[in-house]
Amino acid sequence: MDADAAVERLRELLRVPTVSRTETELQDADAFARFPVLLSELYPRLHATLELERVGDVGLLYRWPGRTPGDALILMAHWDVVPADEPGWTHEPFAADLTADADGSRRLWGRGAIDDKGALGGILEAVEDLLGAGFVPENDVYLSFGGDEEIAGTAAAAAVDVLLARGIAVEFVLDEGGAVVQGQFPGVSEPTAVIGIAEKGIATIELRAAEPGGHAAHPPRSGVTATSRLARAIQRVSRQVPAGLPPTAFPMFAALGSRARGILGLAYRHPRLFRPVLLRALTTGSDEANALVRTTRVVTRLRGAAADNVLPEVATAHVNMRVVVGSTLDAEVARIRRDIADAGIGVRVLAGSDPPPVAPATGRPWERLVAALASSHPESVPVPYAMLGATDGRHFTRLTPAVYRFTPFEMTKAELAGLHAIDESIRVDAYLRGIAFYRALLESA
Ligand SMILES: [Zn+2]
Repeated sequence: MDADAAVERLRELLRVPTVSRTETELQDADAFARFPVLLSELYPRLHATLELERVGDVGLLYRWPGRTPGDALILMAHWDVVPADEPGWTHEPFAADLTADADGSRRLWGRGAIDDKGALGGILEAVEDLLGAGFVPENDVYLSFGGDEEIAGTAAAAAVDVLLARGIAVEFVLDEGGAVVQGQFPGVSEPTAVIGIAEKGIATIELRAAEPGGHAAHPPRSGVTATSRLARAIQRVSRQVPAGLPPTAFPMFAALGSRARGILGLAYRHPRLFRPVLLRALTTGSDEANALVRTTRVVTRLRGAAADNVLPEVATAHVNMRVVVGSTLDAEVARIRRDIADAGIGVRVLAGSDPPPVAPATGRPWERLVAALASSHPESVPVPYAMLGATDGRHFTRLTPAVYRFTPFEMTKAELAGLHAIDESIRVDAYLRGIAFYRALLESA
């Protein structure tokens, strides 16, 4: 493979500002029209061999016919990016600048370098390269590329509808997710390839307090207003939900236990025995570690009176809740009611879903991922885990529970911090190894 040419192609992808915005009329329509055309120019073999179907406005669904009928592999990525409006970018976010780090390694800068044009380019390069070598996959391979992941994810859901309607049998699905990171787990010195086998459920819940209105110049002596009552409920809902080890923690500990030494290794290998130790380590660690072992609730939006001098008749708060794997939305809503302990506070689910089904961390799909990693990132330890954020992959659990969330790039803490922030960048070497991962995965069929 010509590495320099592959990097130049990724730069071309990064230069198209396919920025998703909630106000879609503010989007650069030309960029969204141009991007699929650019793909066909940059990856001609792929476009000559694979069948391309447009799904809705921004969904691209490719089918690579396999040698024999059988369960299909689906690789997902998205080609929209979050805005890059915030000031302070060292390199213009859509210029795709290529620089050298102090150690001489090359680095590519730009919005989408990792999330998710990096993964998109990695998949395209791997397929194009394999086609050049005359490779034909054993079973069908689908590539599902959404252009609205960052706002709605309708393209991914629509692609699932298409595949379901056709009765396509699926072996497994790979979407963006965890990465190859170092120092993420105490006791393990090797880099860990963290592969999402699950994700938390997500919900928006409205809390509503209603009290008589009136002039703010003579508020009730009791101090009870819609806002003060709501404030008490907010305090109660902001307390932590009890922690517990979710079912996904056990395969994670097993993977870590295979490498960790000393007392931590012992704890990872015997999680039931060392439950209190592990729980304490996670709940007193980072906020992310804490969020792995419990449902989280945070009030994100508030609304009170319409004017400064008016007693609110209604005050509302929106709770963003993430339901831990093993629990359910219903159970967590009941818990909110119990914790608030105020029949005068309305609790209403505005949107929400249970955690989707968990993918197995054993069996053939998992083995294929592990084998591909052994080829592209032999120094890393594959670790299954439950993702904290919601992904488009959740839609695909309607086809199979075997949905894995993994982005095959080595990432430092600084690089992770660049996602959805300023100065997103990827090391060229990490990108090339990512391509090698996708290639090995496709060849393993
Ligand atoms: Zn993404």
